Amino acid sequence: MAAAQVLPASNPESLRLAAGVIRNGGLVAFPTETVYGLGCDALNPDAVTRIFEAKQRPSFDPLIVHIADRSALETLIPLLSTRERRLMEAFWPGPLTLVLPKHARVPDLVTAGLPTVAVRMPSHPVAQTLIREAGVPIAAPSANPFGYVSPTCAQHVVDGLGDRVDLILDGGPCPIGVESTIVSMGGTWPELLRPGSITIAALRKVIGPVVRATPNQTLTAPGHLPRHYATLTPMTILADPGIELMAPDHERVGLLAISQPNHRDDRLSAIEVLSATGDLREAARNLFAALRRLDALGLDRLYAESCDERGLGLAIMDRLRRCATPAN
Ligand code: AMP
Ligand code: MG
Repeated sequence: MAAAQVLPASNPESLRLAAGVIRNGGLVAFPTETVYGLGCDALNPDAVTRIFEAKQRPSFDPLIVHIADRSALETLIPLLSTRERRLMEAFWPGPLTLVLPKHARVPDLVTAGLPTVAVRMPSHPVAQTLIREAGVPIAAPSANPFGYVSPTCAQHVVDGLGDRVDLILDGGPCPIGVESTIVSMGGTWPELLRPGSITIAALRKVIGPVVRATPNQTLTAPGHLPRHYATLTPMTILADPGIELMAPDHERVGLLAISQPNHRDDRLSAIEVLSATGDLREAARNLFAALRRLDALGLDRLYAESCDERGLGLAIMDRLRRCATPAN
């Protein structure tokens, strides 16, 4: 396939074109408030197959279905509980994905054969307009080759999938920068499957108890793979600011610091600071672009400093840990 057209999302004509591509079974990369998504008509199994091929994503990893208003839920799920409705009222549109029992008409390909479907209503105006104009729910995973660091600007999509998508809408950098919070509503208690910018404390304020999936559950659940969001360069997480970098002398190494670096070493070839003031929102926004810049240097190893796993810190450390999990 030829290189994809990159069109400015600020032009209404680009959005009309993109909506036509989706309706015709094509693939469009578009900005959301979290990361760039690779979207297609969620109810068209052929189009969904193309997403898995483009990303080289294993078919056991289900997609999130994006909608622009709640009336679209009727096509996807049979009914809503009070808790689910409350979460939607509190956090939609926004970076919260709910895993809900699905309607039979949602293709099994979208949900990897699971009886549940993951649904989200993004708040990004480009995503909203695209879904409305397309007139169908849009299935969209992150717009990157499977397992690699998620894209937070149009150039990241060009770099990873440029020749595998029909159209890329450039809407500038994503304001949040880490993927949505995912909550499963199927069990006795709502369960946090993936931490994101909507924190567990914020969820509990709205619906009471929310349990965190145990590491064992998340490791075996489809799509929640221990290694994900990963740089090609191996990464080690530095738990304790006092710990020395353990790199052998001949290795060229880089450091990812959340705020002011705690580790200084003459051998560091590059340092990326996510937020000089330690603001976790800014750190999350910069995380994937910084990982990509470090990865592009072709170093032997990356070290990442850790942050407190509270609030958004939980999502940041979740992504870093998956990045640092060695490939088999
Ligand atoms: P991505 O869009 O690349 O962030 O990937 C979407 C993720 O949503 C998947 O990798 C799963 O972790 C999660 N997901 C989607 N559908 C379901 C589902 N039915 N049950 C549990 N997790 C899901
Ligand atoms: Mg992804």
